[in-house]
Amino acid sequence: MLDTKGILAEQICSLKKKSLKKRKTRDTSKAIASWIEDDRLITGPGKALVIILNSQGCSWGLGIDGGCSMCGYSNETSAIDISADNLIAQVKTTLTNFSKKEFQSIKIFNSGSFLDTNEIPIEAQTKILSMINEVDSVSEIIVESRPEFVSRKILKNLRKALDQNKELEIGIGLETSNDLIRINNINKGFLFEDYKKAVKIALSENTRVKTYLLLKPPFLTEKEAIKDTVQSAIDAIKIGSRSISINPINVQSGTLVYDLWRNGIYRSPWFWTLKTVLLKIWNQVNKQKLSEKVDRILSDPSGAGTRRGIHNCSKCNKDFIKAIMNYSVNQDYTILNKITCSCHNLWLELLRQEEASRDYSLMRVENPKNLL
Ligand code: SF4
Ligand SMILES: [Zn+2]
Repeated sequence: MLDTKGILAEQICSLKKKSLKKRKTRDTSKAIASWIEDDRLITGPGKALVIILNSQGCSWGLGIDGGCSMCGYSNETSAIDISADNLIAQVKTTLTNFSKKEFQSIKIFNSGSFLDTNEIPIEAQTKILSMINEVDSVSEIIVESRPEFVSRKILKNLRKALDQNKELEIGIGLETSNDLIRINNINKGFLFEDYKKAVKIALSENTRVKTYLLLKPPFLTEKEAIKDTVQSAIDAIKIGSRSISINPINVQSGTLVYDLWRNGIYRSPWFWTLKTVLLKIWNQVNKQKLSEKVDRILSDPSGAGTRRGIHNCSKCNKDFIKAIMNYSVNQDYTILNKITCSCHNLWLELLRQEEASRDYSLMRVENPKNLL
């Protein structure tokens, strides 16, 4: 059995400790943010209400094992205690604020695991879902969780709060199906086996799974990142995840990835890389006759077009942002073939050069800490 403690855990942990000291104090009765956006629903294009809760934060991210190498969400969480009543009030106010708007999906993010009762107490979980159940137009609810918190007991409780016709989906940040990359490059602290168990439990409790995949974890070349994400998507679909979301790294302050980026040894992926990933996944889905097993393969990159986020060149960034959004909502990958730009040749050259200088691979060097 692999040790789930990544080789960079200590370094990640000390960076995180420093940045947590700068956390802001916010009004505990208000969500951090909320908005309505175009989205791909299970049934087709529609609108989603997104709610970012002001919460305690991810137990993994705040714990002694350091959290994930690219995740700065802990910096957005509350430095003071947040009660179940606070969390309920945050959702109640948001639903009231948007009561006159039309949306069919609600996505709740709490910079951690909604199913972890230390982050979101059971009474808050139940009440939040019961309140959402009252919104007639909503047909799907999406919350996030690490796999260790996906239990039959918790899911039974959540499903009980929802009518049968409302879909519940749990977003799990698998990031990659490759255990070595997930543990060492990302420091995620769980195995593919753990994810598989969680998916099995969710499916048996009438709950869907959305799998988040991280495009270009640190220490991978663009080419390795393509291979890793395509393989991971196919693996997740085969396990039973009907929604896949590809998340290209957006460099967040206070993280290991930020340190690497600041020192010129990390670049967020290119749009060409994301385009290649999406086309290759669909190609494999068709080739392996998996289309009946998948409803949506999404990508909604944050920080897109900026130096910290996924980017190409200044000439084609905007076209790609629009095309990826259009693709995601309509699930028509042919849209991605319409963009051309001279930076495509530069990207192709980069793939060749990175391959030639491959000794940077975290998986191949004996002591990767020496590289930092
Ligand atoms: S990526 Fe998810 S699991 Fe990792 S530290 Fe951030 S919130 Fe926690
Ligand atoms: Zn370009």
